Amino acid sequence: QNSLLSATGTTVFTVMSALAVQHGAINLGQGFPEQEGPADVVKAAADALLDNRNQYPPLTGLPELRQAVAEANRRFYGLEIDPASEVVVTSGATEALTAALMAVVDPGDEVVLIEPLYDTYLPVVRLLGATAKLVRLSPPKWELPRAELAAAFGPKTKAILLNTPMNPAGKVFTAAELAFIADLVERHDCYAICDEVYEHLTFDGWRHIPLMTLPGMRERCLRIGSAGKTFSLTGWKVGYITCDRSLAANVAKAHQNLTFTTPPNLQRAVAFGLAKEDSYFTELADDLARKRDRLAAGLRGLGFGVLPAQGSYFITADFRPLGFTGDDVAFCRHITEAAKVTAIPVSAFYAGPDAPTHYARFAFCKTDAVLDEALSRLAAWK
Ligand code: PMP
Ligand code: GLN
Repeated sequence: QNSLLSATGTTVFTVMSALAVQHGAINLGQGFPEQEGPADVVKAAADALLDNRNQYPPLTGLPELRQAVAEANRRFYGLEIDPASEVVVTSGATEALTAALMAVVDPGDEVVLIEPLYDTYLPVVRLLGATAKLVRLSPPKWELPRAELAAAFGPKTKAILLNTPMNPAGKVFTAAELAFIADLVERHDCYAICDEVYEHLTFDGWRHIPLMTLPGMRERCLRIGSAGKTFSLTGWKVGYITCDRSLAANVAKAHQNLTFTTPPNLQRAVAFGLAKEDSYFTELADDLARKRDRLAAGLRGLGFGVLPAQGSYFITADFRPLGFTGDDVAFCRHITEAAKVTAIPVSAFYAGPDAPTHYARFAFCKTDAVLDEALSRLAAWK
């Protein structure tokens, strides 16, 4: 058996969701919206199912979805993308990440990863025979350590994998931080795999800036989006990669060997969704910002040290002020069992030693009633 996979644990999201079910806990752990996505997008999928859209679609995606992805790139970021040769549709951003890494990485290459990191990054980099160079952002400020980042790049660097808006930190990288990264990518003649699944989920006037829009980055970035996040339909698993045609050819070959295609009915519905009016996207973010505020205020009221979140579905909170002396894994298990509310230990997003162990991540993409019930359960437990 493959030793790297044998050594990989089950993802923390599955572990904590199972524990939540076992204890009848409200699941503020795994990041999935409680309310279904827009009814017209769901109906577009249902219509497509009944409209005989059920056989293999083209390898790189339905032309109408590739067109919609290109148009969204122009509308939101001013990027000019050729839908025929510069978009590849994948089965979720998860597949897109693997396909993008497969497209650029050879065994022996180095890939710069930033902690906290989403849990698929490191196992896939290692499975490809590459070496991860980890650079750490730490709470409460999640500041980019520029000197350490620069030192992580070297002659073997093939790519950096950047997640902004960032899970679980809620950090949105600034133009200055992105310019610093772009300079490193250019100087080391490498690629940037940009996990931008939370691109539309930014708050308080923060705007997501794709690294791809910076000077010199158009040909070096593989930009990844997810319909699951953009339309609150996480089970759909429709992702898309936007990149220069020279890269897209390799991405398509990776995709052909991973899944080959992605359900055509869902692709058609996502194409419909991406063409929705601007107000859909701003209301999605505004609604989430209100939920963030509701949960953050409640947690603060209970004594948690809640960190700001500029984007994503998540807030992180220091639980030490409540007097809990164990680590974050113990804390998240404890509140699941004793308060019947589940969260994710932030240390799960760190691979190196000495991870921060006193923060829990709470997902706020839930109804107000569920957020309030979770808060009152925590209040009763405390
Ligand atoms: N990247 C990040 C940072 C995520 O939080 C997620 C969670 N879903 C993904 C990628 C995977 O997205 P998808 O569900 O489209 O595969
Ligand atoms: N991205 C989601 C999260 O961070 C979960 C995805 C998963 O369960 N694999 O919670």
